[in-house]
Amino acid sequence: MSTTSDDAVQQIPLTGTGGIDRGAHHRLDEAWLGAAWSHPTTRVFVVSGGQALIEETADGRTELVMMPSFDAPLTEAHRYFLGMDADGVRYFALQKDALPGRMDEAARPAGLREAAALLSERDNELLVHAVALENWQRLHRFCSRCGERTVIAAAGHIRRCPACGAEHYPRTDPAVIMLVLDEDDRALLGRQMHWPKGRFSTLAGFVEPGESIEQAVIREVAEEAGITVGEVEYVASQPWPFPSSLMLGFVARATGSELRVDGEEIEEARWFSRDELRAAMESGEVLPPSGVSIAARLVELWYGKPLVSSPW
Ligand SMILES: [Zn+2]
Repeated sequence: MSTTSDDAVQQIPLTGTGGIDRGAHHRLDEAWLGAAWSHPTTRVFVVSGGQALIEETADGRTELVMMPSFDAPLTEAHRYFLGMDADGVRYFALQKDALPGRMDEAARPAGLREAAALLSERDNELLVHAVALENWQRLHRFCSRCGERTVIAAAGHIRRCPACGAEHYPRTDPAVIMLVLDEDDRALLGRQMHWPKGRFSTLAGFVEPGESIEQAVIREVAEEAGITVGEVEYVASQPWPFPSSLMLGFVARATGSELRVDGEEIEEARWFSRDELRAAMESGEVLPPSGVSIAARLVELWYGKPLVSSPW
């Protein structure tokens, strides 16, 4: 099974393939940022609570509602510089307490999980970046070294502590997500108690301090399903800013198939052959993983064709 083709990687939702150059070297250059903000071609959108306004265009596409900076609601807003495209258009997000109202009512708020299936690659890439920054800012307003309130710097990419001088950078929490296959090429899928009825997905868990990602795969599969895995192959990653994860996707080979489910993180786990999974999905007994998650792509790599799954 070839699991690392570019085709597969490009199909992963929320993963930036929209051609945006983040221009990180400009983030501390206030003069450059000021000129970029004022430029007539610059485009701005508002992000609030993980949502932005989207609208349908006359030709049936869906796009982020963007405006030139002179129309942007700058009061009570934090400005994030997100980068530029190949045409030199610069993009900013404004983080605000609420999304702006719209006179024409054609626009509506949408979160990433919904927007990912609708927006262009470029708009997706911009929105994922903005939402990830917003989530980090919201949860890191105070200095973790001295407890003082911190201030935003570097166009949204640093928080500085005026009391002790510490600089805090956006954090990303690595998590592993793995399709486990047994010696008969069956796939191990489990379900968590709080998921919609019938939903099964790959196992997943956070990488612990002092642990490699391969070790995390082996530990999580053992903890959640009682299965020992040998070979672990990295496939692809996916930003998962809910609020700050990076999903690292693997295929893992089990050395046995006797399940011992932990009953806490996972309430049920089952081995599926391709025929069994198809039959279970067709009967409605099993809902496949959310279409926006890399879990669906991992299962599809094994299953051999697209799953029919909802974005939620
Ligand atoms: Zn401090």
